[in-house]
Amino acid sequence: MADFEVPELKEYPIVPKLKEGVMAHSAPFVAAGKFQTPLGYPGELVDNWKEVAIDKMGELLGKFRSLQVFLDACVHCGACTDKCHYYLGTSDANNMPVARQELLRKVYRRYFTFAGKYFPKLVGAADLTEEVLDEWYSYFHQCSQCRRCSVFCPYGIDTAEISMAAREIMDAVGKGQKYCNEIIGKVYVIGNNLGLPEPALKDTLEGLEEEVEEDTGVKVRFPLDEKGADILLVTPSADFFAEPHVDGLIGYGKVFHEAGASWTMSSKASEAANFGMFIGSYENMRKIALRIREAALELGVKRIVFGECGHAWRVAYSFLNTLAGPFDFLDPRYPVPQHICEFTYNLIQEGKLRFNKEENDHMKLTFHDSCNVARASRMGNMEGGQFIIPREVIKATCNYFYDMPQDTIGEATFCCGGGGGLLTDDLMELRVKGSQPRMEALKRVTEDYGVTNLAAICAICKSQFSKVLPYYGFTMDQIVSVHQLVSNAIVMKGSEQEAELAGETE
Ligand code: SF4
Ligand code: SF4
Repeated sequence: MADFEVPELKEYPIVPKLKEGVMAHSAPFVAAGKFQTPLGYPGELVDNWKEVAIDKMGELLGKFRSLQVFLDACVHCGACTDKCHYYLGTSDANNMPVARQELLRKVYRRYFTFAGKYFPKLVGAADLTEEVLDEWYSYFHQCSQCRRCSVFCPYGIDTAEISMAAREIMDAVGKGQKYCNEIIGKVYVIGNNLGLPEPALKDTLEGLEEEVEEDTGVKVRFPLDEKGADILLVTPSADFFAEPHVDGLIGYGKVFHEAGASWTMSSKASEAANFGMFIGSYENMRKIALRIREAALELGVKRIVFGECGHAWRVAYSFLNTLAGPFDFLDPRYPVPQHICEFTYNLIQEGKLRFNKEENDHMKLTFHDSCNVARASRMGNMEGGQFIIPREVIKATCNYFYDMPQDTIGEATFCCGGGGGLLTDDLMELRVKGSQPRMEALKRVTEDYGVTNLAAICAICKSQFSKVLPYYGFTMDQIVSVHQLVSNAIVMKGSEQEAELAGETE
């Protein structure tokens, strides 16, 4: 199936021996001019690219003090070396977080430190050359910006921020990544990552209404652009048609229906994802985020709820107010934004949803904490809510739930292997190898508890797992949406399921 060696899943994680440059060949397609210019970048590598790159680095160091601190603070203690899934899955020395950082740090030292300018060899400083630029392009696209390494670093050095800065420098010189930049362009022109125009979106949602009615006997609405609705749902565009994402969207619709909520989606903000973060571009991230503000104002909503998407939730939770706020026109009684899991969890706590857990008895579930939710945001008003709330929703809807080993979940969760703008077929080898630690943990619970399915609340994780699970002997349908479980188990008033349950108890 693969033209590369798929890593073996071992009983217990084993840190591999270092290999130099075994993934040096891995690099995503470079963006053509037509994908670069709409984002404000040069269409191809500019003639004076070294000068532009150094200037950009200087600008970023001035703008983000954290970047300079991260580049200065590393003491090479080695605590992060075996914490990256890409290192564990590929053995490539440059995939150790500290080595990845050094690729940028050596250039930083050369041009921005006294010692590096005058005694470069003594302090490991290096000139910016074409070879170095190629190394950056390859290895900063082997970092999913998952932040796992930062959890183990005694100084909290965040390699994700270093990788974002590197990508922004590369964009500035005209060497951007096709996958991310093409997608951002689609959001500007059409409104979502998939390039799904408004009429197609409308058709899809009408189709969903028919499907749910046929299945349950209840007319659950999936409204689009309805002015005056209370809630604007912003969800990843994958939710509109791909499996298992769309099953999650059906779940959100059923929850809103049962709650009697007035809600709508927007054709303008038909995308929760914000790839501006992956390329480290504040300007592009802001431009994408502003679409949500504009949609909320145009529709006159009172609340904003986000669907299941990991990095979108990070951008929303951590940055939405500063990028596109203030949201003082929304109802102050509700958090801005709110996660759909939090919305559903609150209803569960209030006893407003009824579930028949047996509907999910054909599955034994585990839960994959998505990096951006786990390490870059929170959920609800409790400490650790981002870990507790999705699990409580699963437990309310399923009889069988088993967590993966502790050192692979929660704050220490492993990336799916496809985050951070790497979910592209030109990086398949990296994606498969990088998913190895998660697959190993999944195998453990499969063997120990008979787990059959992995639930997630991130569109990227779901797409990535659908693709990589078969490489490790699992099947692509083993990945499910958390709200798919909700959808399966919810007993809506007036539904055929409610009638069946009533018949059984008579
Ligand atoms: S942020 Fe994640 S992918 Fe990047 S180096 Fe750290 S552990 Fe690896
Ligand atoms: S854990 Fe932190 S200080 Fe230690 S080598 Fe890694 S980045 Fe440097």
